[in-house]
Amino acid sequence: MPSEKIPPCPLAKKCGGCDYQGMPYEQQLREKEKLVKKLLGNMGEVRPILGAETPYHYRNKVHAVFSRKRNGEVISGIYQEGTHRVVPVNACQIENEKADEIIVTIRGLLKSFRIRVYDEDTDFGLLRHVMVRTAAATGQIMVVLVVRTPVFPSKNNFVKALRAVHPEITTVVLNVNERRTSMVLGERNIPIYGKGYIEDVLCGCSFRISPTSFYQVNAAQTERLYKTAMTLARLNKRDRVVDAYCGIGTIGMVAAKTAREVIGVELNKEAVRDAARNAVRNHMDNIRFVQGDAGMFLEGMADREEPVDVVFMDPPRSGSSEAFLKSLLVLKPKKIIYISCNPETQARDLKMLKGDYRVETIQPVDMFPFCGHVETIVLLQRETL
Ligand code: SAH
Repeated sequence: MPSEKIPPCPLAKKCGGCDYQGMPYEQQLREKEKLVKKLLGNMGEVRPILGAETPYHYRNKVHAVFSRKRNGEVISGIYQEGTHRVVPVNACQIENEKADEIIVTIRGLLKSFRIRVYDEDTDFGLLRHVMVRTAAATGQIMVVLVVRTPVFPSKNNFVKALRAVHPEITTVVLNVNERRTSMVLGERNIPIYGKGYIEDVLCGCSFRISPTSFYQVNAAQTERLYKTAMTLARLNKRDRVVDAYCGIGTIGMVAAKTAREVIGVELNKEAVRDAARNAVRNHMDNIRFVQGDAGMFLEGMADREEPVDVVFMDPPRSGSSEAFLKSLLVLKPKKIIYISCNPETQARDLKMLKGDYRVETIQPVDMFPFCGHVETIVLLQRETL
């Protein structure tokens, strides 16, 4: 694990994206352990964090906002923290390098194709953002051009010119975002080259990933996260499992290799569609997916008194809901594996399960080197009453 002095990023001050800029990786890991101990340490022993083999260029999803300087020069980069000022970025220590190169190429093509970048103040112009997603295992690359209207001039020639420089791009999608909003992606996706999604492999399962579906950003560490979660869950052939907040079904699919039956629940329609197709792709007939709010779904299960043995839950940073946690207390699964990217909301949620569940294991995993965010897996075991 690299503990040498890390060369400082020239953009660090302006960008603010990395909380641990310039800090040796070993020290970053100690900081994160400290944070988890502070927030969850009173509930059980915190295991040493699982650090990354390399902390650089792990982000498989790179996103650039396009803007124009006062002199007319087009720039691409990220919003300065807390503002709408764009900091130009050509390269970044944590982003996938190929993705950064593609964004620079797109910027260079705009002029000759007379593509105007979007101006937030006047609501004029076409190109708002570019998102590039790369799949570590298959090498497939998706470019998403976020545009204000679906009319993209000479789109075929644009794709041709882009692929002439980067033949490794496997699909290009127009994402239409007509709203005056700071949300990056709109709802409509129009593939203009290739299949409109990329495929990746994790833990021996194959997954398709659409533009707006959630997918973990650090592939190498995701494998470790899922493997650790499975080791803790110790599933068997009799288990009926719920994968809540399932995204494209990654955790559930890995669980379905061992369990009797898996039900995934997820709010994002596109992700659920990916999940259902991923089940077919992996020849799994013991897994199904439901689109909806995880809390409402679990309430329904509790009302119907459905049996559940193990629940995996992996909510967004805001944590889970009261409806979800209360339903857990009714359903009484023997184990809950709570994966979280925000130990603060996780600590809050765990309090609601206290009494009925015992915290067995707290395992931090470093999914986001250089960033302050920490991922933790908590194994809860039902107290036998
Ligand atoms: N377990 C997946 C996804 C985790 S990210 C993985 O490892 O890839 C959290 C997911 O929760 C996102 O896909 C998001 O769309 C979904 N989500 C957010 N709020 C939700 C809710 N109320 N009910 C169900 N899913 C929700």
